[in-house]
Amino acid sequence: MSEPLMATYKRLPVTFARGEGAWLWDTEGRRYLDALSGIAVCGLGHAHPAVREALCDQAGSLIHTSNIYRIAAQEVLGETLTTLAGMDRVFFANSGAEANEAAIKLARLHAHRRGIESPAILVMEASFHGRTLATLSATGNRKVQAGFEPLVQGFVRVPYNDLAAVESAAALRPNLAAVLVEPIQGEGGINLPADDYLVRLRELCDRHGWLLMLDEIQTGMGRTGRLFAHQHAEIRPDVMTLAKGLGNGVPIGACLARGPAAEVLGPGSHGSTFGGNPLACRAAQAVLRTIADEHLCERAAEMGAYLQAGLRRALAGLPEVCEVRGRGLMIGIELDRPCGDLVGLALEAGLLINVTAERVIRLLPPLILARDQADLLVAELSRLIRDFLGGAERTGAEV
Ligand SMILES: *Cc1c(COP(=O)(O)O)cnc(C)c1O
Repeated sequence: MSEPLMATYKRLPVTFARGEGAWLWDTEGRRYLDALSGIAVCGLGHAHPAVREALCDQAGSLIHTSNIYRIAAQEVLGETLTTLAGMDRVFFANSGAEANEAAIKLARLHAHRRGIESPAILVMEASFHGRTLATLSATGNRKVQAGFEPLVQGFVRVPYNDLAAVESAAALRPNLAAVLVEPIQGEGGINLPADDYLVRLRELCDRHGWLLMLDEIQTGMGRTGRLFAHQHAEIRPDVMTLAKGLGNGVPIGACLARGPAAEVLGPGSHGSTFGGNPLACRAAQAVLRTIADEHLCERAAEMGAYLQAGLRRALAGLPEVCEVRGRGLMIGIELDRPCGDLVGLALEAGLLINVTAERVIRLLPPLILARDQADLLVAELSRLIRDFLGGAERTGAEV
């Protein structure tokens, strides 16, 4: 058979046929516990009736018209989302990278209007903002950028969770116009900054007249136990991007803005053929309603704490386990060695997990995860980790 797909992904040897809640079944009928949710996308789990009903209903009347007309579902979603986020306006895109592209364009336009000729955006080491040219240039991971030079200019990078570095950059760069940062770094290894990091960044942005732009594409939509992760810090950004969990699998991204930043993009300055189409907006509306109706933020907070405590207990005494960390249902287990092989071993055991930053096991289970499923996850994963570490030691002893 020819290979029609570009080799952009090293795919695991499994094909899923259907899902229900936190469970997936492959084409052979084998069942898997999904502790990844399609990388923080299916927060409501698979085949949630609220999303299915919204999609079926909308597909039966209209899927797409165009943004050159008014779109009722987009206006309703825009109202809901801006109200929930305490923001003024929203632009709808189709993905996370596109939402960040809108934020980057907005920041540049905002700066130009204020007389900054060649504006720069402060970004962080180990960040991830997407795979388009501007967003990979903003991303703090050489692997994402290598080979795609020349990169987009206008990004200044500092270490994450380092306010002194931000102050130094401010002193050196009068052209800084915005900060783009994840409240918790996801791809970078589930990196949590100090509790006051966002508060202090907010203060620095206010002092220097920068836009605080939060990439909540992975942390948003209830994942960390609040609808948006920055709500833990009780600050508000000027710009916030969302995607992943917003449509529960239906592609949709959003760039929200507040105050003067919300008025920057006008007719002709940005656009999208598909962005904010009726189908995607109905899905996102159903997601927001369900998160509220089923108290999924509270549930993520509670189940996340339960899961973290369970993992700490089950992994206690293993010196190879450096740290169990996270917030809500965004959890990382850092080992002292690369552990990418665990993904395949877990798959064989009927468990879907991820490893990021080489040594960090990443768990992003659906927000609807039940207690017995959390128990199963802890039991299975801790067994796999113990076997993996034990096996590695045996191999070491044989050499
Ligand atoms: C996934 C992710 C993106 C990119 O989203 P895509 O939909 O894949 O373009 C950007 N930022 C963060 C923090 C992400 O986790």
